[in-house]
Parts: sequence; structure tokens; C-alpha cells
Amino acid sequence: MFKTGIGFLSLSLLALSTLLQASESDHEQHDSHVHGEAKLLIVLEENALEIEFLSPAMNIVGFEHQPKSEEQMGRVKAALETLNNPDLLFGLPAAAKCVIESKAVESPMAVRDEHEHEHEEENHSDFATHYHYQCAETTHLNKIDIHLFDHFPATESIEVQAISNRGQQKIDLTPGHSTLEL
Ligand SMILES: [Zn+2]
Repeated sequence: MFKTGIGFLSLSLLALSTLLQASESDHEQHDSHVHGEAKLLIVLEENALEIEFLSPAMNIVGFEHQPKSEEQMGRVKAALETLNNPDLLFGLPAAAKCVIESKAVESPMAVRDEHEHEHEEENHSDFATHYHYQCAETTHLNKIDIHLFDHFPATESIEVQAISNRGQQKIDLTPGHSTLEL
């Protein structure tokens, strides 16, 4: 389901992705997405916190084709800057002492000269990002404030799957309810 670098994934995140894929194919929903909806996978394993975000490009930049104008190119660049700054996206309790260790942002859109691309396919496309934190005091990691709605207001709901030694949960967050309790 997540096309972003498998090498970054922890084993439990891989297992969860596999589970999700299995349940999605049961419902024959693969290869489709719903505009306005996004997904987060959150795995806390010992001191490692991993967050995967998958969103239709429509929610992020307002279109899903390759950028065709300076204005659209600007929107892609701005979105990439935001997605590369997890401090803007996730509010972690300071007492948990989480430090970002690595991140990966996969964009379906090339940022290049607007005359370069020949294909004008109108396929659905997704942004996929991955953030890996190390948290020194995970006992204080009792919630995560999700700020994605503020930065990408076309997002109406985010389906969150979270797994930690405190259990598994699946919850839909919305702009009015954007804090995940762990
Ligand atoms: Zn789409």
C-alpha cells in the first residue's frame, strides 16, 4: 500500500502494512483513494516512533496531474517544504524527548521545467511520507497532535492505525478532533 522506501520500515510497521493490504484487498479497494481522506500509520516500538502518512495529492496540492504552471509548481514546492518539516505536522509531548532521526518524502510530482512532460495522464496520485523518531521517555508519549489538517485544509478525515505495546487502535481524526491519544 505504501510505496515509500521499504528499507525504512520497522518489522512491525511492515507487518501492519501487510495486514492493511490484506484487509484492503478483501474489500477490493486497492489502487483507489478517496479525495479528502488520508491515512496515518503510527508504530511505537520500544524507543522508536515511526509515522507513515499517505494522502491523495488532491488534498496536498489541489490536483493530481503533473504541475502545468508556475503556480502549480509553487504549490508542489511549498507542500514538499511542509512535508519535510515534521515539527510542523506532529505535536509530540516535550517530556517524551523525541528527536527526528530520518524522514522520507515521496512525491508523485516532479518539480522540473513545465514544458518537459509529455504525458498528461489524469491518474490518481499520492504523496507518501515517513518519519522516524527516537523518543527517550516513551512513558510520556501519551498523545500526538496532528496538524496536517491545518497545513492541508482539503483534508477532511485521516484514518489512523496505531500500534504500540499499549495496544492497537484504529480511529478517524477530523479537523475538530485531531489529537491521537496513545
Ligand atoms: Zn485522486
